Amino acid sequence: ARKAALSASTGPGATSDGHKVPLLANVGGPGDVPAAVEAGAEGVGLFRTEFLFLDDSTQAPSEEKQIAAYRAVLEAFPEGRVVVRVLDAGADKPLDFLTPADEPNPALGVRGLRSLLDHPDVLRTQLTALSKAAEGLPVYLEVMAPMVADRADAKAFADACRAAGLNAKFGAMVEIPSAALRARSVLQEVEFLSLGTNDLAQYTFAADRQVGAVSRLQDPWQPALLDLVAMSAEAAKAEGKSCGVCGEAASDPLLACVLTGLGVTSLSMGAASIPYVRTTLAKYTLAQCERAASAARATESAEEARLAAQAVLSGE
Ligand code: PEP
Ligand code: MG
Repeated sequence: ARKAALSASTGPGATSDGHKVPLLANVGGPGDVPAAVEAGAEGVGLFRTEFLFLDDSTQAPSEEKQIAAYRAVLEAFPEGRVVVRVLDAGADKPLDFLTPADEPNPALGVRGLRSLLDHPDVLRTQLTALSKAAEGLPVYLEVMAPMVADRADAKAFADACRAAGLNAKFGAMVEIPSAALRARSVLQEVEFLSLGTNDLAQYTFAADRQVGAVSRLQDPWQPALLDLVAMSAEAAKAEGKSCGVCGEAASDPLLACVLTGLGVTSLSMGAASIPYVRTTLAKYTLAQCERAASAARATESAEEARLAAQAVLSGE
């Protein structure tokens, strides 16, 4: 019966009263596209381009190789939306030719956008390849930078996109608390935000995402994390711009309802989670999601937040 209910779950993501929340897929490359299409993803909310760079950690892949991979993903979503993240190297994703070997704290060092700003040629090649890959396709391309700390980072990225002649929307990932605290400033430079809740939890709680012993603090139900999500979504709303979530948090159906209640405008996740999130979201109104979000934020722990949201949504 569960399988039947899920296969009946198709169409765009929305609450029971019709508030649309596009459900997008996280992909690592063309190989992940069939599952995303099968799950009814409305597009891609996070294309992690690192995979292309993993074959050879001594140099960047050629422009031609990049164009072919980007085009294969873009072609799969005609008329859809595809959000490509430029290379996020360093820390948990080191690359020899970009990542300094001698940093005491790689997660706090030169990683993500910081590496690309230190290697403008690598960023330029990637943006040019994206621009060429999208040529002639009706797809709605969005390009975002990982690990944006402040307005200056957002501006440097937007400048690089403009210099490459990229015809796309430029965005910033919110993965560092400073970007959430000053989301309105960041939004002066870019057109959308996307919350990377995995790193945002890591940096908010000073809890390494690769260390199991501190996993309690990596729980995306932590009320402090929900506060930062709310702050970012409110800033985007005030600026008339969008604010999605592309971290693991979006794949928890109950949390997806809470994120919707906090004002998040799209949810991106591994394809396998999309049907579950779609059916759960369709059970509740936007007002119920908002009440669940307020109840969760009013608690003092991840566990209490989860129970509080559950209680609201089950009508207790
Ligand atoms: C995140 O940090 O939440 C995110 C989506 O990016 P990644 O997991 O690839 O660092
Ligand atoms: Mg991240």
